[in-house]
Amino acid sequence: MADGRLYLDYNATAPLLAAARDAMHDAMALPGNPSSVHAEGRQARSVISRARDAVARLCHVPAAQVTFCSGATEAANHVLTPDFRMGRSAVRVSRLLVSAVEHPAILAGGRFAADQVTVLPVDADGRLDLQALEAVLAGHDQSTGQAMLGLQLANNETGVIQPVRAAADIVNAYQGLLVVDAVQGAGRLALSPDDLGADFLILSGHKIGGPKGIGALVSAGETLMPAPLIRGGGQEKGHRGGTENLVGIAGFCAAAENAVHALDGIAAVASLRDRMEAGMRELAPDVILHGTKADRLANTSFFSLPGLKAETAQIAFDMEGVAVSAGAACSSGKIGESHVLAAMGADADLGAIRISLGHDNTIEDIETFLDVFGTINARRIARQAKQAAA
Ligand code: PLP
Repeated sequence: MADGRLYLDYNATAPLLAAARDAMHDAMALPGNPSSVHAEGRQARSVISRARDAVARLCHVPAAQVTFCSGATEAANHVLTPDFRMGRSAVRVSRLLVSAVEHPAILAGGRFAADQVTVLPVDADGRLDLQALEAVLAGHDQSTGQAMLGLQLANNETGVIQPVRAAADIVNAYQGLLVVDAVQGAGRLALSPDDLGADFLILSGHKIGGPKGIGALVSAGETLMPAPLIRGGGQEKGHRGGTENLVGIAGFCAAAENAVHALDGIAAVASLRDRMEAGMRELAPDVILHGTKADRLANTSFFSLPGLKAETAQIAFDMEGVAVSAGAACSSGKIGESHVLAAMGADADLGAIRISLGHDNTIEDIETFLDVFGTINARRIARQAKQAAA
C-alpha cells in the first residue's frame, strides 16, 4: 500500500475499488429521489436499475430477485424469520438450523426465538456434519411449519467451503428452505441459487471492493419472500422500506461488475496463497494450518503457531506494518475467542491468525509477509528456548 503498510485482511473488508469510488462520487451529485417520477428521479432510479442488473448477473438470477439493504447482517435479519409469504398465502417456518461456524450475522438467528434455533456441529476441518443435519430434519415436526437451514458458502475465518449442494439436497428432501450466506464466496466462487440449491443468497458490498453498509438479499424466485424487516414507503417492491442508499448502491454496482470477472484471476491468488503457506511451513515446521483437508477459498489461510497467542501475533504483525486478523474482526475492536476454532475442536485459547489476500496482492507482498513471519517466529523460538532453559 502507498503508506508502506501491507494489507492482508480482505475477508474483513476489501479496499474500495477506484471504479466504486468514482461511481459513488457521481451518484452523490444526483439531486433526485429514486422514487420521484420526474427526470431527476428517473436518473437516480437508473443507477439502482444498473446495480440490480450487475448483482443479478453476479448471481445468475433475473434482476427482479435482488433486494438491496444495508449489508449482509440486515439481509440475514430479513430472511431468517418464521414469517414468509408465497404470493398471497402465509408460509410458516418453525425451526432454524445453522452450522456452528456461521458468522454471528447468521448465528444470532435473525427473527427466530432462541428456542427455535438448532446449532449443527462441524468436522475438524469446519465442514457441516450432514448426518446431524439429516437427523434434525428427520425429527422436525412439519405440522408446526417448515425448517430452514442457514449455511455459509465459505467461512470468513478459515476459508473452508461448505458442502452446500449436498446440504441443499437433504434440505429439499424434507421440504425445507436454504439460505446461503454467500458473502465470502462472491468474486471467489461461482454464485447461483439454482446450482447451489439455495432459496436465498446473502451478499455484502464491502467484501468485494464496494462501500461498507450496503448489501443484498437475492431470492431464487419472486413468489416466496420473507416478511419485511423494515416497513415504510414501499421501496424495493415493499420488501425494504426507506429511500435507497443511492451512493452505496452505485458503489456496490461497480464492485459487482468487477466481481463478475474476478473469478478469472482467482488461480493467481491461489498460487500466491500456496507460496505463502509453503514459506510458512519452511520457516516454522510446527505451524498449524487450519482447514487444509477441506476445499478452501483461494485467498484465505488460517494458522496457529504453538506457544504464540494469536492476539499477541496480530499485534506484532501490525507493529511490523502488516494488517492481518486474529479470527474475525469484532465490533468492539477486541479479539474474542474464535467460535470457529472451538467448533472444529482446535485450540481456541491459542487462537489463529487469518491472512486473506486480494487480487492486487503481489509476490513481493508475500515475500514481505514471509520476512515478517520469519522475524516473529524467530522471537517465538528464542522465547521457547529461554523458557526451556529456565
Ligand atoms: N457473513 C459473513 C460470512 C461475513 O464475513 C460477514 C462480514 O464479516 C457478514 C456476514 C456480515 O456482513 P456485513 O458487514 O455486510 O453486515
